Amino acid sequence: MFDSLSDKLGAIFDGLQKRGALKEADVTAALREVRVALLEADVALPVVKDLMGRVKARAVGAEVLRSVTPGQQVIKIVHDELKETLGSDGQGLNIHRAPPVPILMVGLQGSGKTTTSAKIAKRLTERDKQKVLMASLDTRRPAAMEQLKTLGEQNQIATLPIVEGQTAADIAKRALQAAKLQGFDVVILDTAGRMAIDEDLMAEVEQVRRIADPAETLLVADSLTGQDAVTTAKTFDERVGITGVVLTRMDGDGRGGAALSMRAVTGKPIKLVGVGEKADALEDFHPERIAGRILGMGDIVSLVEKAQETFEQEKAERLARKMQKGRFDLDDLSTQLQQMRKMGGMKSLMGMMPGMGKLQKQMDEAGFDDRMIRRQEAIISSMTPQERRAPDLMNASRKRRVAAGCGLTVQEVNRLLKMHKQMSGMMKRMGKASKRGGGMPNMA
Ligand code: GDP
Repeated sequence: MFDSLSDKLGAIFDGLQKRGALKEADVTAALREVRVALLEADVALPVVKDLMGRVKARAVGAEVLRSVTPGQQVIKIVHDELKETLGSDGQGLNIHRAPPVPILMVGLQGSGKTTTSAKIAKRLTERDKQKVLMASLDTRRPAAMEQLKTLGEQNQIATLPIVEGQTAADIAKRALQAAKLQGFDVVILDTAGRMAIDEDLMAEVEQVRRIADPAETLLVADSLTGQDAVTTAKTFDERVGITGVVLTRMDGDGRGGAALSMRAVTGKPIKLVGVGEKADALEDFHPERIAGRILGMGDIVSLVEKAQETFEQEKAERLARKMQKGRFDLDDLSTQLQQMRKMGGMKSLMGMMPGMGKLQKQMDEAGFDDRMIRRQEAIISSMTPQERRAPDLMNASRKRRVAAGCGLTVQEVNRLLKMHKQMSGMMKRMGKASKRGGGMPNMA
């Protein structure tokens, strides 16, 4: 899912990562693209605006400089903000009340309401050891009532016997009464759906809600319907008052807009997600995962976090002090190279980065792999301590000596020195900026 958005953001951030340091103009340009991509992915405009504002406020300035690379830092910020917009982690169902606890299921026809009712019943029965009764309130569609009954039989969940000629309100009352008398813990009321929102439906759902006084009113929404799902959520919330959202068809390849905007527009948590047709295809909602999927950035966030962890504090501090003085010598580069290997080598590092396919190919072509890192380390270790501290000492004859010492060519020595020079220039800029900001640059 979310593929098109991922692709777009991938291309944008590819562009960013080619640059050394990130300027405000870069952030603005990149965010303009992110904004377009989010809008195209059906995220509601106010949600996009709000998100972009927050990302920009964090991205321009000091924080960008504390990253692995500026591009990665921007990705992490966009990711964190997406996560925040999506809400907090797996909020369970609120069934902490004297039984029987009513749960009202609302939503449009075909959204997956009946299937989700059975999924929730199954989960509550098996995981939470609750005794669950299900009742279909869809008086206009006998097939819907039969469907719930069948699902109940298939999953050993009790359903309220079907009585013809009753109104939705009648059935709700009967279900609650039966549940009380027969000692059920939870009653799931599956209301009727419509193809589109209409007044009749809203009035009926409102009435049932008043009668049942549910602990949860869950809106079931199809994640594939994009912006429509947001309108539906808004209307249901305003008229009936929902307590949470269940997003279905998250196993499909829809775009991320629905999840993001439904949460932002209603302010109600996404409690569960449906990931298939089977009765156990129900998962807790993890904003982290969804944000990652929206961005499609591989696992860039864990890359940043992993780097932060692996980098020993001591070395980081030493490096930070040097950087603030504008010094980054070959010993430091050697430490960095070791660090890269510890993090799982270049290959797996590339695997965690956006646009990895292309980049990995380029690096393969350039022969940049784990063996190359080891060769670079070998070059540095063939130098004298003085040379490592002052790479400018490296004249032609010293280069020849070092190359011979580690069995490599002078070109390779040159390449390493050039890379060091570039990195050191970047570090100097970072050092200066961090001094201005007063904080310790986090080199990880
Ligand atoms: P209702 O009209 O809202 O009650 O919708 P149903 O529960 O009858 O679901 C409509 C169709 O969507 C059925 O074929 C379900 O199997 C299917 N469905 C429901 N939830 C999911 C889901 O999470 N993933 C997939 N792939 N299909 C689902």
